[in-house]
Amino acid sequence: MDGWRFDGFPGRVLVVNLSTGAIEAREVPKAWCHEGMGGKGLATRVLVEWDTTEAAAYDLVHPVTGGSDVARHPSTPLLVFTGPFQGTRIGSSGRAVVVTRSPLTDVYIDTYVGGNLGHRLREAGWDGLFVFGASPTLVRLEIRDLEARLVPCEGLAGATTWACEQALDGLGECFSVGPAGEAGVRFSSPITAGRRAAGRGGTGAQFGFKRLKAITVDASPEARARVRVADAEALRDAVKEQRQEMGVKRRAGDPFYAFGTSRAPHYASANDRMPTANYTAADGVVPVLAGTVVSSDAPSSTPPTDGMSTGGAVALDVPRLTGDHWHEAHPDAKQSGCCTPCPIACEAADRPTVEGERVKGRPVHLERVERPEYETLALLGSNLGLSSSLEVMDGNDACNRFGLDTISSGAALGLVCELAERGWLPEEWGTTFPAPRAFGPYAPGDLVMWRFGDAALPPLALEALASATVGDGSLFGTLAAGAMAFADEVERRTGHPASRCTAHCKGLDLPAWDPRGKRGNGLAYMTANVGASHMRAGYKEPTGLPTASALDLVPELVESQNAIVVRDSLILCAFAKGASPDGMLAAMWTAITGDVATWEDLCSRAAVQWDLARRWNVAHWSRLGRRPDAEDRLSWRLREEPLPSGVAEGCVSFSDATDEEACLLAYYAERGWDEGGRPHEVLA
Ligand code: SF4
Repeated sequence: MDGWRFDGFPGRVLVVNLSTGAIEAREVPKAWCHEGMGGKGLATRVLVEWDTTEAAAYDLVHPVTGGSDVARHPSTPLLVFTGPFQGTRIGSSGRAVVVTRSPLTDVYIDTYVGGNLGHRLREAGWDGLFVFGASPTLVRLEIRDLEARLVPCEGLAGATTWACEQALDGLGECFSVGPAGEAGVRFSSPITAGRRAAGRGGTGAQFGFKRLKAITVDASPEARARVRVADAEALRDAVKEQRQEMGVKRRAGDPFYAFGTSRAPHYASANDRMPTANYTAADGVVPVLAGTVVSSDAPSSTPPTDGMSTGGAVALDVPRLTGDHWHEAHPDAKQSGCCTPCPIACEAADRPTVEGERVKGRPVHLERVERPEYETLALLGSNLGLSSSLEVMDGNDACNRFGLDTISSGAALGLVCELAERGWLPEEWGTTFPAPRAFGPYAPGDLVMWRFGDAALPPLALEALASATVGDGSLFGTLAAGAMAFADEVERRTGHPASRCTAHCKGLDLPAWDPRGKRGNGLAYMTANVGASHMRAGYKEPTGLPTASALDLVPELVESQNAIVVRDSLILCAFAKGASPDGMLAAMWTAITGDVATWEDLCSRAAVQWDLARRWNVAHWSRLGRRPDAEDRLSWRLREEPLPSGVAEGCVSFSDATDEEACLLAYYAERGWDEGGRPHEVLA
């Protein structure tokens, strides 16, 4: 019973009913493991087959939008899964996947987290966790090997993720939510290792709805010894080959190995893809907003936007927003990576210096300054009118401590800044908020004005947001429901077209790559089951501007989506792609599981998974009387508002509305769906 049931798969899932406290080990059939390939694919299959969502969940009313809020119902399952690569020495495999109904979008979400959580969970003997119900009191789930128990933890209420990890030190890998998750902020994230987030879709709120503060996982040496692979020698050879590939790339000076994604602002701004002042532009030039109102009732200690004026518009200093600038300021920074084993080690961090002394606290990740990645630099930087990677660190840290998604946090704050500058915020909310603590030029209680270009605004606003009561009618209580819900509420209250100022698909905020600067990118966002994610598709070659049709890209789009499902099911970090070609991944799969399959075989299984998640979404929309093809549309700004400057000046996401329609229909046809975007049955 203790051993793994199959090569490559423990063959069991820990099922936890938080309402009753019942915990059981449930076996999963070998066919599901092989058809789903583990990770995302297996979790999706389990989600669909074991879905505990009750009909009563459809009676819940969202406290801000007044619409559906199925995700909040206790019966909604929350899954944390591992894949066949976890528990092995495959490079860049320190990952796990969280799958659930997104509290932000109310549809399917899969989101990935680094660190060692995935390895440890699999080594302990679990393919994954299936958690449903809601505990009457705050609890944590403690797992050691095949033993699991729920432990009351009221003492951790309100604790930051960092404080939680320190309090639970010694219990293995910790995956916890901060105050934002507990409060049900719809874009909160569970965090592990101090800074690794399951970022997208607000899965932290799912922890909060269930009164689950943290999951800790440890695996004994005996449990680790039970990891079972079909052909250890073949796996060793494949791992060796992958490491050699990674070594070649490092020696060749691949900038990703030294800078991670932090140099992307150079490329993204030059190609009109970098969110600037809430997506009013995408080239780093903050435009003059129509109807801009600048209030004088706030401290003027920080000048708005620190860039250069270009005839009213302000050009941000893009080089300062990059990792290059960060490294110049931190010459002693060390490259690191917490998703072991990872020869890439894409992070970089330094220790802070306080009064001339470098801080030497432990654990290391709690006392360090970290280089933000591109999406954070863009959403908490240029999107807020900031142009220094050093300033972005404060917002990044706040997100890690309070447990928030940096992307949706930046989208939410950027939206409020734009609405304030346009004079569109409801009068009762004003255009300022009191600083919750001393920071930068502000003393506690000082009024902070909603405006672009104030480096102190993100950490202060995020702190206020993290403990907001969702739906209490206040600005922060409304913003905690996410940018789309906030804009709709402002529109209802004021009559101003605030919903036109959001950038999302299916309610998932755009991930820092503006589709108005790249042909085919809009269609990738529209067709991802989760909404606007940049990690669900990718084109091999540059595709040009969306002035031409993206019809010819449809087959490649489907192919890339399927390939990424394979990667996300085996669970390999996206950054390892260059050093892990398709054939190598198929060889690793066969070595681990004994299932002889080609890359094409795996992609066929991925296509089934894609349809499965789509079908789950379609069933949800049907129940609510909504049309799937209408749900697939991008938000107004991306479809209708041309970029004001840069290489894509004048562009929207498609060449025109006819082309958009044709591309979507071609995509449905390529997937074998009907014209309304409904897949055929995929399970017997
Ligand atoms: S490349 Fe970075 S994110 Fe990916 S596994 Fe390695 S350390 Fe983690």
